[in-house]
Amino acid sequence: AEEMMIRSEKMSVAGQLAAGVAHEIRNPLTSLKGFVQLLQAGIEKKDEYYKIMIDEIEKINSITSELLFISKPMTDNRNFERLSEMLSDVVTLLSSQAKLFDVKIILELEEDVSIFCDKTQIKQVLINLIKNAVEEMTEGGEIHIVVESNKHQCAISIIDEGPGIPQHILHKLKEPFFTTKKDGTGLGLMISEKIIENHNGTIDIFQNIEKGSTFQITLPLHQNSI
Ligand code: ADP
Ligand code: MG
Repeated sequence: AEEMMIRSEKMSVAGQLAAGVAHEIRNPLTSLKGFVQLLQAGIEKKDEYYKIMIDEIEKINSITSELLFISKPMTDNRNFERLSEMLSDVVTLLSSQAKLFDVKIILELEEDVSIFCDKTQIKQVLINLIKNAVEEMTEGGEIHIVVESNKHQCAISIIDEGPGIPQHILHKLKEPFFTTKKDGTGLGLMISEKIIENHNGTIDIFQNIEKGSTFQITLPLHQNSI
C-alpha cells in the first residue's frame, strides 16, 4: 500500500506536462482577458496595452509550438551520422546569436565519430544545450565543445563560462516549465533528455571548478561506427 501511495503521488510526465501547460497558459490568458475588458471600457493608452497583449499571445504561441514539437509522433529516422558535421551545422546556426552575446564557440574534436541516430533530433538537443549556454553568458566569453570517445561511447561536453547553477535548483532543471528566463519556456532540457534517453544516452550536469557549468551528453557508439 505504501508503495502505491508513493507511485500515485509522483505525477506521470504527461500529468506534469498537462498541469504545467494549464498553468502556463492560464496566466497570459487571464491577463489578456483583463486587457480586453479595459479596452471594452474605452480606456486610454491603447497602444501600450496592445503591446502587452501581443507579448502574452507570443508567450502562449511559443509554449504551444514547443508542445506540438513534443506531441508530434517524432519521426525517427536513424542513420550513421558524423558528429563533426552535426556540430558544425549547429554552431553555424547559432553563430549570429553567439556574436550578439559576444560569445565565442570553440569546437574541440580530437577524432570524428559517427553516431547511429536521428540527425534532426540530435541537432535539436545540441541547439538546446548550446543556446542555453549562450543565453547564460550575458557578459560574453567562450563556450568549449569537447568531444571525447572510446570504443563504446562518446561524450560531448558543452562547457560554458556562465554563472553556473545554484545547488538548490539543480534538481529542477529538467522538469517541464522550469525556467529562470523572462521569456523561457522551460521545455528545452526536458525535450533534450527525452531524445537522448531514446538514443540510450544520458545528459549529466556538472559545476565547473573555475566558472560556469558543463552539460555532458553521452551516447553509445556502435561496433561499425568508425
Ligand atoms: P529555458 O531555456 O526555456 O529556460 P531549458 O529547459 O532549456 O528552458 O532550461 C531550464 C533552465 O535551466 C534555464 O532557465 C536555466 O535556469 C537553467 N540552465 C540551463 N542551461 C544552463 C546553463 N548552461 N547554465 C546555467 N543555467 C542553465
Ligand atoms: Mg533552453
